[in-house]
Amino acid sequence: MQKKYLIANWKMHKTVQEATAFMQALLPQLEAVDPSQLALCIAPSFVHLPAIAALIDGHESIRPLSLVAQNCHHAAEGAFTGEVSAAMLASIGVSGVLIGHSERRIYQKEDHLLLAKKIKRVLASGMQPFFCCGESLEARRHGSHKTMVQQQLEESLSGLTTQEIEKLAIAYEPVWAIGTGQVASIEAITEMHTFIRQMVSTQYGTERVPILYGGSCNPQNAKAIFDAPHVAGGLVGSASLQVDPLMKMVAALLG
Ligand code: PEP
Repeated sequence: MQKKYLIANWKMHKTVQEATAFMQALLPQLEAVDPSQLALCIAPSFVHLPAIAALIDGHESIRPLSLVAQNCHHAAEGAFTGEVSAAMLASIGVSGVLIGHSERRIYQKEDHLLLAKKIKRVLASGMQPFFCCGESLEARRHGSHKTMVQQQLEESLSGLTTQEIEKLAIAYEPVWAIGTGQVASIEAITEMHTFIRQMVSTQYGTERVPILYGGSCNPQNAKAIFDAPHVAGGLVGSASLQVDPLMKMVAALLG
């Protein structure tokens, strides 16, 4: 069975105390989950990473838990006030980084070229890039959703070797579905996941890149989404902020 992924993207939510309480409630519930079947990735704010790293330290092999950052800088180091490098993240036990989330593309104006540099930097630091792509509402309305996603993939992944691409996971997240409660239909998810699978397979000759879905995923709709073809798991925002819905989505993923 291919390993499944569930990423809890907490965005700019929770204090450190709230994050710690969440993890203390979550950890015992994961004891029965086989780490070879699931990677449950917690993606909190930068400031929470050391506290959560300390809580899961030493338990990675017996619990399906890992730590993912929501962003990093593309340069190795330097005079970039307020930024966080990939090496800093790796040095505290972070194992992956979200790259290209639509909120960063929109609010921080991150473009394809910058994202390509970040992917390289994350790989060079020994971590897994979780590359987010997805069409805007406008592109969906005009029927150019595939063209838009194709461009995002081509321009940010070009230059990667097959060996490098196999270290990535891709999250298909239609922008109009993120944080809106408007989940994509199973048909739309299947169409896009099949399209991305074919693109990666044609360009890199591998089927080993997990493709996740993100956008208003919750315990009610998770099972149907996770059962769709080529869906290797989910990237979840709001529904990952509480332990109970998160564990229900874990059950949907493994069930
Ligand atoms: C996300 O942040 O990537 C996301 C999918 O958020 P939500 O689940 O809240 O739509």
